Amino acid sequence: MARGVTRMSELFLRTLREDPADAEVTSHKLLVRAGYVRRVAPGIYSWLPLGVRVLRNVERIVREEMDAIGAQEVHFPALLPREPYEATGRWTEYGDTLFRLKDRKQADYLLGPTHEELFTLMVKGETSSYRDFPVTLYQIQTKYRDEERPRAGILRGREFTMKDSYSFDLTDEGLADSYAAHRLAYQRLFDRLGLEIQIVSAMSGAMGGSASEEFLAPCDAGEDTYVRCLESGYAANVEAVTTTPPPEQSTDDKPEATVHDTPDTPTIDSLVAVARSLFPDRDYTAADTLKNVMVKTRLPGADEWQLLGVGVPGDREVDMKRLEAAVSPAEVALLEDADFARNRFLTKGYIGPVGLQKNGVRFLVDPRIVTGTAWITGADEPGRHVFDLVCGRDFTPDGTIEAAEVRAGDPSPDGAGTLVAARGIEMGHIFQLGRKYAQALGLEALGADGKRTTVTMGSYGVGVSRAVAAITEQHADAKGLVWPREVAPFDVHLVIAGKDETQRAAAETIAAGLAETGLEVLLDDRKASPGVKFADAELLGMPTSITVGRGLVNGVVEVTERRSGERREVPVDEVVSALT
Ligand code: ATP
Ligand code: MG
Ligand code: MG
Ligand code: MG
Repeated sequence: MARGVTRMSELFLRTLREDPADAEVTSHKLLVRAGYVRRVAPGIYSWLPLGVRVLRNVERIVREEMDAIGAQEVHFPALLPREPYEATGRWTEYGDTLFRLKDRKQADYLLGPTHEELFTLMVKGETSSYRDFPVTLYQIQTKYRDEERPRAGILRGREFTMKDSYSFDLTDEGLADSYAAHRLAYQRLFDRLGLEIQIVSAMSGAMGGSASEEFLAPCDAGEDTYVRCLESGYAANVEAVTTTPPPEQSTDDKPEATVHDTPDTPTIDSLVAVARSLFPDRDYTAADTLKNVMVKTRLPGADEWQLLGVGVPGDREVDMKRLEAAVSPAEVALLEDADFARNRFLTKGYIGPVGLQKNGVRFLVDPRIVTGTAWITGADEPGRHVFDLVCGRDFTPDGTIEAAEVRAGDPSPDGAGTLVAARGIEMGHIFQLGRKYAQALGLEALGADGKRTTVTMGSYGVGVSRAVAAITEQHADAKGLVWPREVAPFDVHLVIAGKDETQRAAAETIAAGLAETGLEVLLDDRKASPGVKFADAELLGMPTSITVGRGLVNGVVEVTERRSGERREVPVDEVVSALT
């Protein structure tokens, strides 16, 4: 058999007619139905031959683009000792997300959620002077995170594959260059993966550090919300919207009700006052519980109160467990949806659509309403913008947010333009970490001047297994998967429609001819009805299929493009050259 030809009769594959019962998102349904992955436990999946082929293609593209910027591949274990993570504080900071275990001597271990510590220590061990820098290392490796809601198949696994790279520079300019190189490499690799990407400003989260951007794949199944200005191209994750205030700060420019002085510690009255100015037509109630001030709201006459926001004095952490005990599950979902937990971690300050204060600094709060969403602009003095938070989804029980426009008449954050909110899947994340990890773990280098200097780092992640699902989300249609050519498990799906021996012989010749040119061919040589074969070809999603059927008596075969559905007849002896 020619290399590059795989026979369906021998392929380890069983397709399913029904969606799996536990699947909520398209990619999960289709990848299971088409026999690419199988669930083992929540957020834990096995890959079957077709799935492995896509995964390997994604990895290959990621490797090629990393190698192209001079990054060198290494490989770390997933099973790691506690000590390095203790040194950086992340043994504690990661909380329940970290998979922890003990060895037979009762020593603590963890399954790596990300590897900054290990890379830093490796570089520390192998370098000494400025001559060894800059250096960029990467790995493609299995990561473990005990995600709270692993409900979207391989989009959010508890075990998943990530490409993580780390740059090590001696100067800030060097770090900026390494960051820029990664940014470009990411644009190229996501392009090759066939993913439409929106780059957004981001918060650096548990990583620490300063500059950070995310590569989001816009699609409804995404769990991140971002905003984008239609006119200026400005885009940011709602966790991290930063804006320039309108040019002049004359009082005429400022809609009256949109600037609020929040007291250093939110009080019930101050929170309700701001809430009322946000949503004037509602009833309010508030309570000072759990060391938090909670404001609830309802439409006049409605029975149910719903949580609008929670005020937390700046030096306190929110205790989600206690909060959960005090509010309804729908309200907790609303809070989680509002990225409550993450923002809590980042700002350690007030979260919620009704006021904000951070570490004792007084913030002015400029709330705006994107349909169903409260928008908070924070400034530490009038006109000096610091950050925004968008939270408090529409007050529906399920907390859904619609893509929505800023109400007419509201300034946008850049001072002009229309702002839209949308959902996206976080595909990549790049950070300028700075010296945090190098300091914690003592990574220094001897400079040309003989002085020791602390190394500055960047950290860069790509969701490799997540990409397989994200590509599905962006490309699949009602009939099944649709793979962009570079990631498809096979280039051509060749169907023998009938039982006729001449059809089989012609198909074998075509398959061998295509394989000869380097294409990967999936040959459907099964004893199944044409209907079953065509349905499977659509479900499996190869970019091009060829049907050898009745037309063969007239010397033609049919070529179908999966994406467009376009069909054409091609003379049988021209089909190989037509496809290459
Ligand atoms: P998310 O916001 O989706 O939880 P994250 O910000 O926690 O992701 P990072 O720590 O930035 O993730 O990790 C780098 C990349 O790894 C992410 O951009 C994403 O593509 C991927 N990734 C993170 N968590 C998961 C997961 N649970 N399953 C699959 N891929 C993931
Ligand atoms: Mg996460
Ligand atoms: Mg994230
Ligand atoms: Mg991230």
